[in-house]
Order: sequence, then structure tokens, then C-alpha cells
Amino acid sequence: MIYDKQNIFAKILRKEIPCNKVYENDYVLAFHDVNPQKKLHILLIPKGEYLNLDDFNEKATDKEIIEFNKAISHIVKLLKLSNEGYRILSNIGNNGGQEVLHLHYHIFGGEKIGPMVTK
Ligand code: 5GP
Repeated sequence: MIYDKQNIFAKILRKEIPCNKVYENDYVLAFHDVNPQKKLHILLIPKGEYLNLDDFNEKATDKEIIEFNKAISHIVKLLKLSNEGYRILSNIGNNGGQEVLHLHYHIFGGEKIGPMVTK
């Protein structure tokens, strides 16, 4: 599958559409989900053009991979979620329910997240 530069997160990265930013550095951007599923629902995306986690791990540099993972802990510290806990999730492909084809982690927190998956 080819990366579509017109996906919504690519547009957010190019600042063609706004986002409610939580954190940004040279490698990642984190912002509030427009349709939050929990009290706190953050999306973390790499700045590079990657479809999903597999594409990222195959093509990204070690530095990009390290920075993306480190950003999770940085953001949860920023939002003071470390002690109470949180959940990260990444939907991949059709069965995973991925809607936006630019790699992203959902970060949920601020309340009990509940069952891992629903039937
Ligand atoms: P997926 O189903 O691909 O894992 O998740 C995509 C997420 O992107 C959804 O939770 C959806 O609410 C969020 N989303 C879609 N469009 C926008 C947007 O324009 N702005 C923001 N902040 N979130 C969006």
C-alpha cells in the first residue's frame, strides 16, 4: 500500500488543518483526538510518512523509532498520567480498524479505561 499524502494526519502535520497540540519535537506530534473515547484521548504520530507500525519498523531510522517510543513516556509525564496509569493502542489495517493511514498511537487516560477489547 502506498502512503497517501492527503490523509488527515499529513494535513495536520503540514498545518493545513488545525489540531489541539499537546507536544511536538523534530520527530513527533501529539494532539487531542477530535472525537475522544475517554476523558483524555491523545494521538501520537511520527512526522515521517509511515502507514502503520510495521511500515515504521521496516523503514524508519533507529533514531525515529527511539524518539517515537520515548515520546509516549514524555507525554504521559507531561499529562501526569504515569502514576494513575493509561493505555496505548495502535489500530493496524482493516481487521485492526485503522481509519487514518498514518501511523498513530492512541493514548487513553484520565479515568478507568475498562476492558481491553469489547466483543
Ligand atoms: P484509527 O481508527 O485510524 O486508529 O483512529 C483515527 C483517529 O483519528 C480517530 O480516533 C479519530 O477520532 C481521529 N481523527 C480523525 N480525524 C481527525 C482530525 O481531523 N483531528 C483530530 N484531532 N483527530 C482526528
